[in-house]
Amino acid sequence: PFDVLVVGGGPAGASAAVYAARKGLRTGVLAERFGGQVADTVGIENFISVQYTEGPKLVNALEAHVRQYEVDIMNNQRATKLSKSEQVELELANGAVLKSKTLILAPGARWREMNVPGEQEYRGKGVAYCPHCDGPLFKGKKVAVIGGGNSGIEAAIDLAGIVEHVTVLEFAAELRADAVLVKKAHSMGNITIIAEAETTEVLGDGNRVTGLNYKDRASGETHKVELAGIFVQIGLVPNTEWLRGALELSPRGEIIVDERGQTSLPGVFAAGDATTVPYKQIVIAMGSGANASLGAFDYLIRH
Ligand code: FAD
Repeated sequence: PFDVLVVGGGPAGASAAVYAARKGLRTGVLAERFGGQVADTVGIENFISVQYTEGPKLVNALEAHVRQYEVDIMNNQRATKLSKSEQVELELANGAVLKSKTLILAPGARWREMNVPGEQEYRGKGVAYCPHCDGPLFKGKKVAVIGGGNSGIEAAIDLAGIVEHVTVLEFAAELRADAVLVKKAHSMGNITIIAEAETTEVLGDGNRVTGLNYKDRASGETHKVELAGIFVQIGLVPNTEWLRGALELSPRGEIIVDERGQTSLPGVFAAGDATTVPYKQIVIAMGSGANASLGAFDYLIRH
């Protein structure tokens, strides 16, 4: 059995594995796809001390760092069930069962997509999901935010300080964001909010986004907006469906952790975007992976 088994090969899981291995613990990493969301990222400008890097390059560096230690990397493997008696038992999609004294869950999250024509084609070429990451790329330009929930309105307020103009498109008739955020957005001069607007297509010139089409759901008419960027803010979904019933999740499905990354199940820790950590970023995921790993070490020396 492992001392520490990590589920997830993104920045949180990689960091947890390095910290565990450096304690001399028997460490394994299970990943459906090593690299996680970073593998889908084009430019990264906020990984502190590295002014610019690219997703695949950072994934290679993560893997090389983990491989520097005696870590058992099991890539292209999916965990499907977690149970705990004396040890943690993890069932995989291929039927195998792995046993470990402690577990670190870092299965990450996925952005909900609009599923409209052009979205995939222009991903990273104007279609973005993270205002903290990509906002500065649109300095002085026009952008849209899709979604009028808290994350959408927060993104609009954030972007309005950088870009020329923000159009918020909300599908429902009413914004779901907190009133205080909506009030702030309305006070900002360069934010237009359009409700009952269904985005139907991302438009581009072959290289980059040039605009979008949306349908006014009240009148049925289609309108075109010219812009350079589209921030999709319709939800970040944690990859925790398979953990329901095994440990405590928040109403949004995030794994509830304490300040040491400990979950409701003793000996099971969690880190990164799949948890209740409020902000989801690479440097935060790495920090929380290290934190959860030290939490697991602390647990092991007491049991
Ligand atoms: P993830 O990166 O999501 O990794 C999860 C890992 O778990 C993967 O290896 C996955 O295959 C695995 N996994 C999931 N479920 C299972 C299972 N059941 N069994 C086995 N393995 C499983 N952040 C920044 O700081 N700067 C940026 O510029 C930036 N740009 C971004 C651009 C895009 C397009 C996206 C999508 C995100 C971006 N982010 C950026 C956010 C950042 O990528 C995430 O915060 C970070 O990757 C989270 O790390 P994580 O390890 O928690 O999860």
